[in-house]
Amino acid sequence: MKNYKHPIIYHPLYDIPLPEKHRFPGTKYSLLMQRLESLGLMESFLKYVPKPATIEHLSIAHEASYIQAIETGNLSRAQQVRLGLPWSKILRQRSFIAPNGTLLAAQLALQTGIACHAAGGTHHAHWDFGAGFCVFNDLAYTARALIKMRLAKRILILDCDVHQGDGTASILANDGDILTCSIHCAENYPVDKACSDLDFPLLRGSDDDDYLSVLGRCLSHIDRMNFSPDFVLYDAAVDVHIDDKLGLLNVTSEGIYERDRVVLSHFKKVQVPVAITIGGGYGETHEEVAQRHSIVFQSVKSIFSC
Ligand SMILES: [Zn+2]
Repeated sequence: MKNYKHPIIYHPLYDIPLPEKHRFPGTKYSLLMQRLESLGLMESFLKYVPKPATIEHLSIAHEASYIQAIETGNLSRAQQVRLGLPWSKILRQRSFIAPNGTLLAAQLALQTGIACHAAGGTHHAHWDFGAGFCVFNDLAYTARALIKMRLAKRILILDCDVHQGDGTASILANDGDILTCSIHCAENYPVDKACSDLDFPLLRGSDDDDYLSVLGRCLSHIDRMNFSPDFVLYDAAVDVHIDDKLGLLNVTSEGIYERDRVVLSHFKKVQVPVAITIGGGYGETHEEVAQRHSIVFQSVKSIFSC
């Protein structure tokens, strides 16, 4: 296993062109890849490029007329405001590719035990509308696709973004074979939370110890449930960071490393494959966000390369 490389899924069209002052760090995807190269981490990863999903593929998680509106750019001003991103041809292209990036990560993780998507975690996208910088819900799409293809029977979506996974929870509300679990800050967006199967809201200002204790409680709770997932989709978002521009938690980079280590070690021990998405992250600069997103790749290398 010494020279084994872990799958990383990335597409050169992932960056989103946005005005400089826009809150979303549109270049974080290419910057993350550059960061992984400069840290020497790419020596431990093998790159895979996903293909775009079709309207028919995506219709397992979204209403056909909404997918069509993204395809044609026929979004009203109000819909674009809710989405938080202006429609463009590049946004359209990458929106059809990214859900398949998470699905490809899942398919590879089923063979290898672990795979990382250098994008994804777009958990605010609902059945018939986009919101909070999320066009299509790659987590709901991938989980339903795996069940449909009979590649998994019981899937856990462990969402550690600072914002609640409201879109995922609402799309999958009646899917008994997919367990949605969100650990988030109670005071962060969205104001009106959905009901995940499991919600662990944290108080504003919670630090590393608070966070890790709730994470421990969450994993023990899942262990005690009569569910036993055979696959995990892990949203390893970094907007829980103390310096994040949107997140209201006080988790340090060391705390994020520890969170990822706890989650990945937990499922490695019970031999349940995990596909990772990078989720949200907002900073003063796009570079600092990319740096934080590199933390989970460090954890993967240290936990799975021995
Ligand atoms: Zn977020």
